[in-house]
Amino acid sequence: MKVAVVGSGIWGACSAFQLNKAGVDVELYDMWGAGNSRSGSGGASRIIRLAYGDDKIYTELTNKSFNFWEELSNNSERKLYDECGMLWLISQEDNSYITKSKKHIESVGHNIEEISIKDAKERYPLINYDDINKVYYEKKAGALMASRCCKNVVRNFKKNGGKVFLGEVEIDEKNLDKENSIRFNGKKIDADKFIIACGPWNRKLFPEMLETTTYISRQEVYYFGVPNSKASEFNLNKIPCWLDLNADNPSYYGIPFHLNKGFKIAYDERSTTFDPDTSERIPFPELVERTKSYLYHRFPNLKNLPIAETRVCQYENSLDGNFIMNFHKKNENVLVLSGSSGHGFKLGPGLGEMVRNILVYDNEIPKEFDLKRLNTDRTTSQYYNAQIKYQEKKRLFN
Ligand SMILES: Cc1cc2nc3c(=O)[nH]c(=O)nc-3n(C[C@H](O)[C@H](O)[C@H](O)COP(=O)(O)OP(=O)(O)OC[C@H]3O[C@@H](n4cnc5c(N)ncnc54)[C@H](O)[C@@H]3O)c2cc1C
Repeated sequence: MKVAVVGSGIWGACSAFQLNKAGVDVELYDMWGAGNSRSGSGGASRIIRLAYGDDKIYTELTNKSFNFWEELSNNSERKLYDECGMLWLISQEDNSYITKSKKHIESVGHNIEEISIKDAKERYPLINYDDINKVYYEKKAGALMASRCCKNVVRNFKKNGGKVFLGEVEIDEKNLDKENSIRFNGKKIDADKFIIACGPWNRKLFPEMLETTTYISRQEVYYFGVPNSKASEFNLNKIPCWLDLNADNPSYYGIPFHLNKGFKIAYDERSTTFDPDTSERIPFPELVERTKSYLYHRFPNLKNLPIAETRVCQYENSLDGNFIMNFHKKNENVLVLSGSSGHGFKLGPGLGEMVRNILVYDNEIPKEFDLKRLNTDRTTSQYYNAQIKYQEKKRLFN
């Protein structure tokens, strides 16, 4: 079997790697290269954690990914995975996301423990706990050096004989059942199966399939400039990755000082739509101020530190936040991977194995990822309208 994978973000890269390892002849295409700055997998770092509420499938896929990340990091000159743990700060009333996670985390052999506020203050004194209701700690969790990971996976794929092509693949969805519908450099790509993993561009390539079931949201990331004399106090040995679960304000999360960049903070909110090709990647001053006031409150010792670096990127969301994995209705040889919804990096290796098992061993696509779920009890357009309404309600800027 010959497979063409389009997109070498972490999903395409891991799928190509796993298929190649299973003896499949694989070609990997990307218009800007693995982990490029516009892609969802670009940028310095991502969090890996097992807690996923009741969504067991993601805990399992993440757990399957740890070995891959550890091996990738151990075989690299530079550290790619830092198992620094994950701290959950629950500032909303509802802690059920964590309590529901517990049994699933335990079922894969790890745990999440509650820490009293008193103990948390002793262990992590840099955090202000004034408005925190509960604190939980996951030991098996940490930070992945995102773009570097992506590049390394592709490098290993190449080392194992995989072929890599740089440039844009054209896809004609209307005629997907026809011979010439997937082209590179004006010529048909000759393959038995295609995997399309183009992140935020999927929607443009497959408007019929994805326009009303996915949307792209704009995200900002900031690195605060910790002074050199304080860098060791604010780094990953002293504070784990963290997330402040908050229903009213966006949930902020962060990765302490890493890669000599700064103290990273970002927010989990999907309030503004984005175009990966044409939107400006410059932070909005209002959002910068909002983040500063949050950070200075939660980490008082960081007060008045300047921002050293920023990044504007995008989530490729499905309407319900679950992944989408489907063979295209017009061509059952085209497998589309979409809807990573802001949480798809950590479990790329597990997802790559899943894709391999579907293509090579005829495994079923999990029902959780089947696009049909968005059409079952409500119509697609009802889902879409509900999402747009939600966005309008929360929209800060057009
Ligand atoms: C700010 C931010 C924070 C995040 N935090 C986390 C986190 O902490 N933990 C976590 O697990 N996940 C996180 N995520 C989500 C995660 O990074 C993404 O889900 C994941 O990287 C998506 O990977 P992908 O391979 O699907 O898409 P992408 O990485 O976007 O890759 C798509 C690739 O397709 C290529 N492409 C597109 N069109 C074409 C074409 N026509 N021809 C050829 N190539 C094409 C692009 O160049 C690109 O390289 C975060 C995302 C963002 C933006």
